[in-house]
Amino acid sequence: MNIINGLSYLPRSMRQQLYFGIQTVIGSRVRPVWEEFLSWERLTPAELDQAVEKKLSNILEAATTGSEYYRNFNLPRRSGETARQWLKQFPILERLKVRENFTSIVRDDLRSQITSREVNSPAGYSWLMVKTGGTTGMPTTVVHDANTRDWGRATRLYGLKQCGFPLGKPYIKLWGSERDLLQQQISLQQRVLQALHAEIPLNAFRAREEDLQRHLKVMLAHPEIKHLMSYVDAAASLAIFIRDKNLRVPKFETIMACAGTVTPGYRALLEETFSAEVFDKYGSRDCCDLACECKSHTGLHVYSPQAVIEIVDEQGRECAPGQSGRILVTMLNNRSFPMIRYSIGDLGVWAEPGACACGSPFPRMQSVLGREDDMLSTQDGTLQSSSFVRHFVGVSLNRQLIHEWQFEQTGPKDFIFRYVPLKTEGLEEDLNRLKQSIRLVFGASANIEMCRVNEIPPSASGKIRWIINRCHKLQ
Ligand SMILES: [Zn+2]
Repeated sequence: MNIINGLSYLPRSMRQQLYFGIQTVIGSRVRPVWEEFLSWERLTPAELDQAVEKKLSNILEAATTGSEYYRNFNLPRRSGETARQWLKQFPILERLKVRENFTSIVRDDLRSQITSREVNSPAGYSWLMVKTGGTTGMPTTVVHDANTRDWGRATRLYGLKQCGFPLGKPYIKLWGSERDLLQQQISLQQRVLQALHAEIPLNAFRAREEDLQRHLKVMLAHPEIKHLMSYVDAAASLAIFIRDKNLRVPKFETIMACAGTVTPGYRALLEETFSAEVFDKYGSRDCCDLACECKSHTGLHVYSPQAVIEIVDEQGRECAPGQSGRILVTMLNNRSFPMIRYSIGDLGVWAEPGACACGSPFPRMQSVLGREDDMLSTQDGTLQSSSFVRHFVGVSLNRQLIHEWQFEQTGPKDFIFRYVPLKTEGLEEDLNRLKQSIRLVFGASANIEMCRVNEIPPSASGKIRWIINRCHKLQ
């Protein structure tokens, strides 16, 4: 362990080399992919357009020839049609469609291996079954092939760079860790990569007063670390705790705010509390990272070599800048499981087009209006990021048994988990495990009522919310 920890003290350039070296040894091609990513950043807008056109053309071609699901739509490219025009002919891919057509979406030559969502991913650096809670309360599974995984890694490196702490610069990561909750060890490989990133992990699934005190202590013990990567609500919870208790504040230069909506209120809270520049980063497990703010803060640059993003209204028409609509994602690097016009479950708004002062040619979204769930309250009054519920239902216990769900806090230790079941076989065991997991976060005395429903009730405003806290409202 000490040797591994020692890695984080190596010079940054050496850690960068070691990072790419280890990735190569495990079979990842992230180094050349990362170099390609950076080369896209230097393109002129016209060159970028051409590069996207070519990549999009290839992926649509691969989908219509290699995937039964897309072949069945019979979507031939009309003569003279650009790839972007061709894309508009494709149907929107809803999460429900992914679930219903999972195996037929898989590329032909992999279908003998991927016969259902329950198949285990093979050992080594190959395709991976990716389970997600998504932003819609509907657990979903997709497949990422090795190339997609490489691009996923490259998008993460790009996010670090955009937020002021490129690979090797130390940072604190306030993130959900189920392993830590279950007191399990992380793998040797993960420990090594953590050390090469010079990352200090703190568990966002723990937010009781003693946990927040501990997080704070670690941050204050490392004044040399100037960057924080965090779930936006976990960072906000810590900021509120510091403010309410009038505690000493750790200072950061930059904060990468992830996995939630960076509302103006959250941004102001984080900027004021930590004296930091806040960067909104957008991504998901199923689509990897997709967009991030640059230092000009003129919106979130879409990662053009990774995805084409469309924003459409209820009739499926393209939204003008300033008009909010559904975000559709076309993944440009996943030939094995084509995700074309995938409805990721968030709303977005395009910024006015035009050059950004940072020099990046990548298009910009003004904002993403994603998940705006409530934070939950612990018994000692601190606020707990709700991401852990999504994690347990959507990732860790995602056995495709639950269609939709909602988690409501009705008292300091009282909760209702509503669910619409998909299958009953194995459901009880799943629900029991979920209960246990929730108690790991809220304590053994938490009362959790499991409530089977036919549909998730919308809130008074008509919007469906997946996490509701009736005990505490953010002022
Ligand atoms: Zn920019």
